[in-house]
Amino acid sequence: MSFSSNKERIKDDYIDVVPSFCPTPTRIPRPEHKLSRQSISKNALTVLYQLKNAGYQAFLVGGGVRDVLLERLPKDFDVVTNAHPEEVKRLFRNCRLIGRRFILAHVYFGREIVEVATFRAHHDKSGEGIVEDGRIVRDNVYGTNLDEDALRRDFTINALYYDISDFSLVSYANGLQDLQRGMIRLIGDPVLRYQEDPVRMLRAIRFAAKLNFVIEPDSAMPIYEQGDLLNHVNRSRLYEEVLKLFHTGHGVNSFAQLRHYELFNYLFPHTEDCFDDPMTIKLIEQGLANTDQRIHEEKPVTSAFLFASLLWPPLLRVMEKHAYKEMSDQDALFAASQYIVSKQNQHVAIPRKVVILMQDIWWMQLRLTQRKAKNRRSLTLLTHPRFRIGYDFLLLRASAGEAVEEWANWWTLLQAVTEDERDSLFGEKKNIRRKRPYRRSKSKKVA
Ligand code: ATP
Ligand code: MG
Repeated sequence: MSFSSNKERIKDDYIDVVPSFCPTPTRIPRPEHKLSRQSISKNALTVLYQLKNAGYQAFLVGGGVRDVLLERLPKDFDVVTNAHPEEVKRLFRNCRLIGRRFILAHVYFGREIVEVATFRAHHDKSGEGIVEDGRIVRDNVYGTNLDEDALRRDFTINALYYDISDFSLVSYANGLQDLQRGMIRLIGDPVLRYQEDPVRMLRAIRFAAKLNFVIEPDSAMPIYEQGDLLNHVNRSRLYEEVLKLFHTGHGVNSFAQLRHYELFNYLFPHTEDCFDDPMTIKLIEQGLANTDQRIHEEKPVTSAFLFASLLWPPLLRVMEKHAYKEMSDQDALFAASQYIVSKQNQHVAIPRKVVILMQDIWWMQLRLTQRKAKNRRSLTLLTHPRFRIGYDFLLLRASAGEAVEEWANWWTLLQAVTEDERDSLFGEKKNIRRKRPYRRSKSKKVA
């Protein structure tokens, strides 16, 4: 996809341009909006009320407001208050302070975590807000009011607040209009806001993919030019962002958006190098479609499977390299996987335990496609703890057009047939002749 064609498409998408950022808040009283307490989690309400009763201001903000207004189920509920993190900690027994870049209070209710942030203010050079090359590396300047906090938020649709004191809705920067129009718009100067935190580019793409929104042109354009800022982001943070892009039910759409905005290359450059083979894109799209489906059916998904499919095409390329030709298949696979993981880790850090499972999935591919697997001994592979995930990956490869369909069919059949039918599959009689037990040769008696 060329740079200019994308740029043109963006301009085409937006014929009418909405007035830019407006810092004056609009307060919408309860009877005039549709955010009801019934759509807010009980635990989030507990936190809001407890803060309010202790004399603090407390608002619901972010996805909890945005998604409820869009009649979607929020992923989590975020609260913002004028109480400082230590004050929040004192109020809740089940609370932990986390983070360095932003200190946040996590209030635990079983599996649900309500995230409580303190109002942010402008970072300045002398204070706690630490800026490096335009990036904010520490941002713990607390503010006293909502106006300042709203300016520090990323998108207008994320700067909508629900005030627990009177149940009104506070909309900054035309956030409500943007929500109604399906528009993702950065608050402030997009170039600077991406420089401050390049992850905002991925967040823009994620919300566009999740909500089927469009990124407003002034917020979209700099993404093409500033993608390389992602090279400076903490690689573990990028891993978390990749999971949010691909493991929250809109993976296919996220992949399309990442490619459209030319950011995929900064996350998975070795995979992008294989895009000249149409099978690469097919494999990734099919894998993501299956994952989206599983998430909608509330089935578990594993990140090792995701990374196994993202890195499979470059792994095959590396294995084709001359240097591995002299090795056994297993050694070549191991060497190539070590190589590709070390290369990938320079961009997105994959946790060790994910790497181990991913390598097991790959290793299973060798075992599932060995000529000698089509015999009775292959039955033992069916009970291998990694069989299921390896088999699923084999099916994925087959559906992407790799020449493994025969093997995929074989393993499908083997699982489907009864024990008696299995015998005919192996072309053996049911009562297989037992091997003669090993007998020790009697030592000759010495006369
Ligand atoms: P979801 O929880 O569905 O991913 P969200 O908008 O709630 O979406 P969170 O990561 O939970 O996203 O963050 C909560 C809020 O904090 C956001 O809505 C936004 O206002 C603010 N925020 C989060 N990350 C950033 C960032 N990098 N820069 C500026 N504001 C941010
Ligand atoms: Mg959230």
